[in-house]
Amino acid sequence: PYKNAWFKRLRAAEPPLVDVAAFPVQAKSGQLQTPPADARIPTLSEMRFEPADNASLGITPGMTGGRERLADFAQRIDGYKDRRDFPAVKGVSYLSVHLRFGTVSVRDCARLALGFDEGQPHAGPGGHSQKSFESSEGKQGWLNELIWRDFYFAILHHFPHAATGPFKPEYEALVTDQDAERLAAWQEGRTGYPLVDAAMRQLNTTGYMHNRLRMVTASFFAKHLLLDWRLGEAYFARKLIDFDQSANNGGWQWAASTGCDAQPYFRIFNPISQSEKFDAEGKFIRRYVPELAKVPARYIHAPWTLPPLEAKSFGLVIGHDYPAPIVDHATQRAEALRRYAAAAKNKP
Ligand code: FAD
Repeated sequence: PYKNAWFKRLRAAEPPLVDVAAFPVQAKSGQLQTPPADARIPTLSEMRFEPADNASLGITPGMTGGRERLADFAQRIDGYKDRRDFPAVKGVSYLSVHLRFGTVSVRDCARLALGFDEGQPHAGPGGHSQKSFESSEGKQGWLNELIWRDFYFAILHHFPHAATGPFKPEYEALVTDQDAERLAAWQEGRTGYPLVDAAMRQLNTTGYMHNRLRMVTASFFAKHLLLDWRLGEAYFARKLIDFDQSANNGGWQWAASTGCDAQPYFRIFNPISQSEKFDAEGKFIRRYVPELAKVPARYIHAPWTLPPLEAKSFGLVIGHDYPAPIVDHATQRAEALRRYAAAAKNKP
């Protein structure tokens, strides 16, 4: 329903295109003013950013960087739907950091998805032809994600209680564990589940995590580690360079089944089958978990199943070089279902 309403408004109300690059001025109190000669951009430390360990995140900042990434993605957008779920593949736009800092215009993004060339004059209010919406599946799929972004803005705006607690009030009663060791193992990427660990290490070293992996790690946090999703949300908020309160909160509540999603709580991602499906050859895992680099693909998703002799032949001792699984999938799944069912009984 939200998407339908979004489209109706888009057709009725999109303002005309303005080439902002032609206005090297500051907008202040509704007036356009030339910046004073001594104007300067505050330093990072003045803005209370701290230097990261990484020498470089490989991001070109500013609108130059935003434009570059959008142009690069424009070459790949038609394959988005088929490629977006595979973290080892360059299938997504990587524009989130620019959208978060406003160094790319979401309207330019939407225009690309609607099939307009960048810079093409806009047809004016209501001017999108039906043909534009029949663009490739990739474009449509990507536009859907931009709509999700707006949707989560709207959720926090209209339901501000979701910023600090479950969107669905019955899950206030959800019982969670307090377990500092499990929390630290998840944060540091040493749960013994390779896809989860690779994802957390990607987050820790680059400030980015692929969307499929955000879903897998958040689900694992809430439904396998049985921890309070708000602690995971807070960790993502600290580490993500694209941190956005509404998208992060929406994603976490979706994964923890406490949000506005229609899917019931029994959707529990299996971290092993997700790994087999979305990183079949273990390419992504090998990139971030070098301890497992030599493990054959058929074992890399659950390395504890490797016969010890075979593991030893390439210098891997589970529990020494790489952790044994911190929890058992089947046990935790059953326990999560029990706890969610108990909380769901409180539905008003
Ligand atoms: P693309 O797939 O190219 O998508 C394009 C843009 O659409 C993104 O840049 C983003 O602005 C928007 N978008 C895509 N998916 C979503 C979504 N599910 N919800 C809202 N907007 C979306 N996104 C953030 O921008 N900041 C966050 O803090 C954040 N936290 C998340 C936490 C969890 C647990 C989950 C499951 C998702 C989260 N997301 C967040 C959404 C999504 O994972 C990222 O937007 C995406 O991975 C960014 O990569 P991209 O720009 O290449 O995405």
